[in-house]
Amino acid sequence: MFNALSDRLEAVLGGLKSRGKLTEEQVDATLREIRLALLEADVNFKVVKTFVARVRERAVGTEVSGALNPGQQVTKIVHEELVRILGEQSAPLDLGSASPAVIMLAGLQGSGKTTAAGKLAAQLKKKGRTPLLAACDLQRPAAVDQLKVLGERAGVAVHAPEAGGDPSADPVAVARSSIDEARRLGAGVVIVDTAGRTNVDDAMMQQASDIREAVEPAETLFVIDAMIGQEAVTVAKAFQEAVDFTGVILSKLDGDARGGAALSVAEVTGRPIKFASVGEKLEEFEAFHPDRMAGRILG
Ligand code: GDP
Repeated sequence: MFNALSDRLEAVLGGLKSRGKLTEEQVDATLREIRLALLEADVNFKVVKTFVARVRERAVGTEVSGALNPGQQVTKIVHEELVRILGEQSAPLDLGSASPAVIMLAGLQGSGKTTAAGKLAAQLKKKGRTPLLAACDLQRPAAVDQLKVLGERAGVAVHAPEAGGDPSADPVAVARSSIDEARRLGAGVVIVDTAGRTNVDDAMMQQASDIREAVEPAETLFVIDAMIGQEAVTVAKAFQEAVDFTGVILSKLDGDARGGAALSVAEVTGRPIKFASVGEKLEEFEAFHPDRMAGRILG
């Protein structure tokens, strides 16, 4: 994948074997292709603009070295810049020292939060931890049942209100009582699923913020659908303001999205993308690799 943009840039530069420093003309000739590749990958247009400006600044005057021709040299710079924004290396969970450690998930409805909660629980269990899933999405009628099914599949206990998905129940109280339940069960990690709406809205943000204050999570993970496209920036900023998340889960990466949302979110929030969700099955969940994503974005 990394080669595709490289091929395009070489075509623009005529595959020149020139040596010396990259000239402004050479770099400018490539910027159109870079901009297009990023927009095709659905990177937010404002993010594309700042990214391209940064690449230009770095590329002009760079020495064309070794076995690389000018097209390959520019591609290398683009790739390095993408990886830098995406976080250089995979960022692991940081569960801190409190017991139980709390992981809270937040995001729009349908973003894949409940699924990710189940997957995270399954993964932690495999690593020898004892997680407890807390069903605090009481807005979506089926969310509590869905979490129970996932919990059963993963062999992980689920803490939910007595009445099941009851919109009149208080999700903050459920989150709080899940901590006591974890202590009672000897569970070292609580994964809190929260409610989302189809659009960013004040009541949802307030609720997420209240839950966060009540349970003081070691990790607050923002779940975002890789297919969201240009909207990624607005949604990510709103959630960062409300819950100041510590990391990101990029979901539905098995779809045909080129993953531009990853770059948009990483650039505007500065938070690491920790996991990628790549299917509906419990085990289709993996550490996020900046290097692979850079290749995917470049197409
Ligand atoms: P929530 O409203 O944020 O809790 O979202 P859900 O977890 O219910 O997910 C919404 C839909 O997306 C469900 O049909 C899930 O099965 C599906 N889904 C979640 N994650 C993934 C994923 O990584 N890949 C695919 N293909 N589907 C997913």
